[in-house]
Formats: sequence, C-alpha cells, structure tokens
Amino acid sequence: MKNYACPKCGNKIYFENVQCVKCGAALGFDPELLAVVAIEPAVELTGIYHPIGREGADVRYCANTVHAACNWLTPADAGDGFCRACDLNRTIPDLAIAGNLEAWQELERAKKRLVYDLLRFGLPLDTTATGGERLAFDFLVDATTGHLNGVITINLLEADAVERERQRQQFGEPYRSLLGHLRHESGHFYWNVLIAAAGQYDAYRAVFGDEREDYGAALARHHNDGPPTNWATRHVSAYASAHPWEDWAETWAHYLHMVSSIDTAQAEGMEPRASGLLFGAIWPFKAFDVHREETFDALMERWIPLTIALNNMSRGMGHDDFYPFVIPAAAYEKLAFVHRAIRDYVAAQAAAPVPDKPVIPTPPSRGSQLASPERPVAGRSLIGRVYDRLR
Ligand SMILES: [Zn+2]
Ligand SMILES: [Zn+2]
Ligand SMILES: [Zn+2]
Repeated sequence: MKNYACPKCGNKIYFENVQCVKCGAALGFDPELLAVVAIEPAVELTGIYHPIGREGADVRYCANTVHAACNWLTPADAGDGFCRACDLNRTIPDLAIAGNLEAWQELERAKKRLVYDLLRFGLPLDTTATGGERLAFDFLVDATTGHLNGVITINLLEADAVERERQRQQFGEPYRSLLGHLRHESGHFYWNVLIAAAGQYDAYRAVFGDEREDYGAALARHHNDGPPTNWATRHVSAYASAHPWEDWAETWAHYLHMVSSIDTAQAEGMEPRASGLLFGAIWPFKAFDVHREETFDALMERWIPLTIALNNMSRGMGHDDFYPFVIPAAAYEKLAFVHRAIRDYVAAQAAAPVPDKPVIPTPPSRGSQLASPERPVAGRSLIGRVYDRLR
C-alpha cells in the first residue's frame, strides 16, 4: 500500500478516508490512478465532483459510499454507479437486519485491500473474454466461506471479531483475519487463471503435489485426523497440508500478505537492516515496485528483517506477534512459485494480442467442478459443515 497524503493540504491520510481531518477536503480512491485523490463538488447536490490539484475527468463516489462501505470513485457517467471493487459484488446482505451493515462494512474494507493489490499486480478481475471466469463476491448470512467458479462466498459471521477469535483458538491457528480469508479465496480463483487455464499443471504439481487427489476426502481427513506431524517443514500453515489446492491458496494468501506489507513498509520508510541473513543483505535497499519488479530473493531479503522488527514492535505494545509464522525452505519454494506464476502471467498478458472473440478455454481438469474448495454442494452435507469450520 502506498503512503497517501491529502492532495490539498499534505496531511497524511489513510486509504479508507473520505475526508481529510485537517482541511476537510473530500477524498476518494481512484482505481484508475491507484491513489487517494481530493475532489470538490462540480455542481452542488448532483454528486458530481472535480479533481482538486490536477487535471482529470469528473467523478462520483461509488454507490456504496452512502452505506459507509466504500470510498472509491467511478467516472461521473459510469453505468450502475458502482466502483471497480463494488462492481464485483454479486450479493450483499440484507442491510435492514441489525448487525449486517457493520459486518459488511468490515468485509468491504478488507475486500478493497485485496482488490488494490490485485490491480497493482496487474492481475485480471475478469477473464470471461478468454473463456474464463469473472471474480465475484457473495456476502451471505449463514453460508459457507469458499470459492466456486469465480464466486467467493464469505460468511458474514467472519466479520464478528469475537467469533473469529473463538474459531482461531479452536483450530489452533496463529492468524485469522477477514483479509486473510479474502486473499485465500482469491487464490482459488487465480489458480484457475494462472495454473488451469494457462496449462501449468506439471510445473504446479512438481511443487505443490497432485490436486487430483480426492478433495472432499482430503478435507475430511484433515478435519478428523489433523495435519501430518511434519506439516511445518513443508507448508506455510497447517491447513495448507490438507490438499494441494489449499496449499496453493494458503501460499497465495501468504505471498499477498508479504508483498502488501513490504510495499507499505517501503512507502512508510521502514527498512530494517538485514545483516547476516539468508540471502546476503545489501544495504541500503533501493525502492522498487514490489508488485512488478525485482526477484523473489530480493523481496525475501527485505521481508525477514521487517517481520522481526514488527514482531518486536508488537511485543513492545503487548500485542501478539505481527507475523506469527516460520517459513520452512519447502514453503519458500512454493512462495517463489506463486511469485513467478504472477509475473509470468502478467508478462504474457502484456505481450499477447487482444482476442477478437472468446477463446475456447483449456479443458478443465477432473477436479474443475471440485475447484470449489470450501463451498459445500447443495444440501449441506456434514462435509459442508466441516468445510465451514475449517475455513
Ligand atoms: Zn487536507
Ligand atoms: Zn465501491
Ligand atoms: Zn481454500
């Protein structure tokens, strides 16, 4: 996340702000510029705004801004009035029911941070033009969190901090967050894009294992027997050991945690010295676009000392560790694979001609219909409830 300042007065602001607390300027996030901008009413009471301090077309706030669920901007003439991120919503909860609005606002805040990073990577949100899927969100009460055919379903209960902490402790997880869920589920969507549709099965299986293993049986085994005792030597998390799809999704989420945090640290000028660490540190670090440039090793060179410094900061405030993970060498390889998969895909897209008609997609693997990880089939079997409790 870049470091934003009010374009009118220079006051430091957050990504989520709709108004500068110092000068009162109206603020919004422009997904085309990937920046928080200051705006002023073009014509009072029409909802149309001009940019302040720069040339640019008129904009509106996203239609979800009235619910305090969004601060993103759209072109003034945008069709349905939703921003690029809210346009991905397929279902939102009934806001007339007590508690739903607050839960959905929390989910939207997390979703915006996910979508921000996806845009920074240059990853597509919609691959239907090439025969793929479109990323979409269902925020539902009493549903099972998971992914199916591009649709990420999130159980609203995940926004309940008390319930989330209860589940975290129940399942012995060191980390559980809304943003973590969203990043994880987006990993299933991008597995379909970067691995399945791109025909990268062999390379993927060489690192993560064979995803044709029976998914339902694997998750049931994970739930009943727990992870293998040596999971920590091979995976970023215990849940990653449940099935190769979950290993990918957990690793994907972890990679997004890393890149997003390094990006923020760089923007905030936080660069702990890395002396005597794994990759032979070079000091001082030079700035780079963490989403697009530099090698995986260069990212890790910054990440390790940063996590140690942040853990020390957390401990100094009496909080749990900021980064409660230890990454084994095998999981480094998986993180590096995700890194390369993103870079290779984005580079290939940049080089590819725009298709004039939909391309027939790569034949799906046997598991394509199962690429629905945690979301249960209709009828809510016991397994469905098991998935619900797992993630
Ligand atoms: Zn200001
Ligand atoms: Zn929006
Ligand atoms: Zn999953």
